[in-house]
Amino acid sequence: MALAKVKSIALVGLRGELVDIEVDISDGLPGYSLLGLPDAALLESKERVRSALQNSGAPWPNKRVTVSLSPAWLHKSGSGFDLPIAIALLLAQGAMPIRKLEDHIFLGELALDGSIRPIRGVLPALLAAADRGITTAVVPLSNAAESNGITGVKSIAVSHLNQVITFIEDGVIPEVDLEEINEMSTSHLDLSEVVGQKRARLALEISAIGGHHLLLIGPPGTGKTMLAERIPTIMPPLTREEAVEVAAIHSVAGAFGERTLNTRTPPFVSPHHTTTATAMVGGGAHFIRPGACSMAHAGVLFIDEAPECKPGVLDSLRQPLESGSVAISRATGTVTFPAYFLLVLAANPCPCGRFNGKGRACTCSSMQIRRYLQRLSGPLLDRIDIRTFVEVPTRVELAASEAGESSGVVRTRVIGARAVAAERFENDRWRTNSQIPASQLRSRFRAAKAGMAFLHRELDHERLSARGYHKVMRLAWTIADRNGVAIPGLEEVESAYLLRQGVEIS
Ligand SMILES: [Zn+2]
Repeated sequence: MALAKVKSIALVGLRGELVDIEVDISDGLPGYSLLGLPDAALLESKERVRSALQNSGAPWPNKRVTVSLSPAWLHKSGSGFDLPIAIALLLAQGAMPIRKLEDHIFLGELALDGSIRPIRGVLPALLAAADRGITTAVVPLSNAAESNGITGVKSIAVSHLNQVITFIEDGVIPEVDLEEINEMSTSHLDLSEVVGQKRARLALEISAIGGHHLLLIGPPGTGKTMLAERIPTIMPPLTREEAVEVAAIHSVAGAFGERTLNTRTPPFVSPHHTTTATAMVGGGAHFIRPGACSMAHAGVLFIDEAPECKPGVLDSLRQPLESGSVAISRATGTVTFPAYFLLVLAANPCPCGRFNGKGRACTCSSMQIRRYLQRLSGPLLDRIDIRTFVEVPTRVELAASEAGESSGVVRTRVIGARAVAAERFENDRWRTNSQIPASQLRSRFRAAKAGMAFLHRELDHERLSARGYHKVMRLAWTIADRNGVAIPGLEEVESAYLLRQGVEIS
């Protein structure tokens, strides 16, 4: 047989397309041509495939070889087609008995010695395969964790080309220690480990209930990071759908890490303040990869020392904050990744970090202090409802060493309060209090009389801006949901007002 065909999957963002790999071997001058919009990495597949075949003791045809990837219009990138090309080459040479491979796909990069290397995006590729009636997927062993547990597709994890040949010839499936791979990763963090910090803990809970973005201000060493990284533990667990979506994004980013399809804890992603706008929102020349804000989808994006970010980096978050997704355009088309995340920024109070409102220890001028936090641009601050000072725990708090509430207890309250809000917004296009439009706050979502009176007084005395007013109102609704109150009263409004304390920076 001089013609053979096997299947694989090409990814466009998170979307997978079935690709046919056809190999034709004909008489004529020895040569190798690859058709079907391959990128540079794919063009180099010839050398990898040839070495891998020869080093595995398999034949390489000294003839004219044409490899065609279809559909032809689809851009194909990366090294994941090495394995299917090698298999099609073997079949076309008659080096393997023909078995029905119509419902099989092959994914994997070949090393020169024939071993199989991991590739990006195995999880979304397999989800697409399942949709298209594929029943068996041959995948790199290192990607086994993400290919496990996809309904309808049996995955065969392989580490060497010889294992694939044996599988096709005799149906022998290499043994894999699934237990090791399938080990569930659960977060070991818990809110009970945070000592004191009563106000910050409340800020975290309110943020998790209402989806309110958060700014934590405090000197270094006060535990801002410790607080932030525990937010996912008090958020409602991801739904099955969300878990698959998050796992798919992490798979495409090549950062599957400890997540599995069964990981229900929302992701926590904390890019360093020196990160670039591209790393933040995604991009890349050949292979478009998701950025930090898509990795944080359905979870928390935490940026420590946010005022130190390079100009433009924080502003790049405006589009995803607005739309819940990131669209990346290239000559080859536009790729969209979901990016609906809770933004948590941390900042020192001033350049030297020691400002505590009392002026002691800090060497910065009042102008410097003001300017420092103003580096967080206005449009971004507009989206941040909660601004909380995190203080060094006092000696009394540390000595008390009384454990705070655990994440589980807080999470139960968060889930309950979210359910109340979801019911209220049943016929609306938003789901959380942070998304209530300003116009609706002025009409449908007012506070009780005493609460409104308090706010009007603050407005009159110019202690509250119009913008601040809307934020306090949204927070008051979240606090009401938490406290089981139907409409926010004076207590909820005052409590919301306190969550916006601190230097006036917006
Ligand atoms: Zn200072």
